[in-house]
Amino acid sequence: MTTIYLKPHKEESLKRFHPWVFSGAIARVVLDASHKAAAPEEGELVCVHSASNEVLGVGHWQVGSIAVRILAFGVDTLPADFWNERIRAAYRVRESIGLIQPDNNTFRLIHGEGDFLPGLIIDVYADTAVIQAHSVGMHVCRHEIAKAVLAEVPQVNNVYYKSDDTLPFKAPIEGEKTGWLITNDQLPMTNEFWSTENGLSFRIDWLRGQKTGFFIDQRENRALVERYAKDKDVLNMFCYTGGFSLYALRGGAKTVDSVDVSQKAIELVNVNVARNFPQATNHTAVAADAFEYLTQQREQKRTFDLIILDPPAFAKHRDAVKNALRGYQRINAKAIEMIRPGGILFTFSCSQAVDKEAFRLAVFSAAAQVGRKVRILHQLHQPQDHPINIYHPEGEYLKGLVLYVE
Ligand code: SAH
Repeated sequence: MTTIYLKPHKEESLKRFHPWVFSGAIARVVLDASHKAAAPEEGELVCVHSASNEVLGVGHWQVGSIAVRILAFGVDTLPADFWNERIRAAYRVRESIGLIQPDNNTFRLIHGEGDFLPGLIIDVYADTAVIQAHSVGMHVCRHEIAKAVLAEVPQVNNVYYKSDDTLPFKAPIEGEKTGWLITNDQLPMTNEFWSTENGLSFRIDWLRGQKTGFFIDQRENRALVERYAKDKDVLNMFCYTGGFSLYALRGGAKTVDSVDVSQKAIELVNVNVARNFPQATNHTAVAADAFEYLTQQREQKRTFDLIILDPPAFAKHRDAVKNALRGYQRINAKAIEMIRPGGILFTFSCSQAVDKEAFRLAVFSAAAQVGRKVRILHQLHQPQDHPINIYHPEGEYLKGLVLYVE
C-alpha cells in the first residue's frame, strides 16, 4: 500500500478523529511497487503515517485540497468485513432509535462523515437503496458497498447508483456513474417507485430527480408543520415533490399552495397529493420562480397564515456566503410581509457554508426591514439519520427557524 507521511505536528487533527488530510499537510508520498505512475491513483487506499512514523489510519486518496479521507483510524489496513461492519452499525442506529417502522421505510442509511464513511451517502426508499459517491474512492468501492447494503438491510432488494453530479469532475472515473448495481425484484423495471414517510406515500424519482430523489432531511420539520397547519392557509415555497404540503394537508390546512421552479417537481407534487388525498380540492401547485411569485402575490395583496421557505443552498462555497446572505434576507423579507398577523414562518438554509448565527442574522435583517414584531418559536436542524460526527463539525448544514409574526 502507498504510504503518506505527514509534516511534523500535522497528525493532531487525525488523532482527534477528524477524517480529512489536507494536501498541505503532506511531507512525502512513498508509492508501493505496483505503481507505474509517479503519484497514487485517485481512489486508491493509502496508509497515513505521522512524521515520527506512527500509523494514523487508512483512507481514500484523491487529488484536491482534501487529499485523503480516512476510513479507519489507528490501523494500516481495512478489516475484511469493513463495509458490512460499518453499514450494520449505521443500520443499527436507525433501528434502535425507532426510525424504521412499517409506516416509515424512508431513511438515510449513511450520512458521510456522520456515519464514519466520508464521501458516501446512502438513502433507502422502501426496498431500494440509492448510493451516491462524493469521492473517487467510494466510486471504486461501489459494488462492495452495494453487496454489503443488500446483506445488512433487511428491507433492501435493489441498489441504484447515482453519482453523475457528485464525483469530482476532473477525476479519471472508470465505469458508469449511474445505473442499477443490484436488482432482485421486478420493481426496477417499472420505473415507478413509492416510499413511505411517516405514513405518507411519496413517488421517488431518483432516475431523473434531484439528489437521490427526495429530501429525507426535512422529515421531522415536516411533522412540525403538520402540527401547526390546522385551518391555515399554507404556502409551501421551494416545495420540490411536496413534502411539507402533504403534511400540511394531513394536519387539516384550509388551503395549501405549492411552488417550485421545476415543472417536473410540480408534476410529482400533484401525483403525490392525488395518491394521499384523492378527494382534496384545497391544493394548488404552480411552477414559478420563487422571487417572482412572491412579488406577484404581494401585488395582488395575498396573505397566508403559514409560509414555508426551503430554498436550495444559496452558498455552495465559502466565497459565495455574502451573496447568499443577501438572498436569504431578500426572500425572508418577502415572506414575512405576506404573513397575516399571528402567522408562522418556517424558514430554512441548507448551505453548509452559512452557519446558524449568520442565517439568523439574515432573518433578523429581513424582519427589521419589514418592521414586523417577530419571535423565534423553534430552532430546527437536520434529523437523526443525518448525524453530525462530533469530530467533524463541518457535517452540520441544515438549520431552520420557526417564527411567530405579529
Ligand atoms: N422543500 C423540499 C426541498 C426543497 S429543495 C422538500 O421538502 O422536499 C429546493 C427546491 O427549490 C428544488 O426543488 C428546486 O427546484 C427549487 N428551486 C430552485 N430555485 C428556485 C427558484 N428560483 N424558485 C423556485 N424554486 C426554486
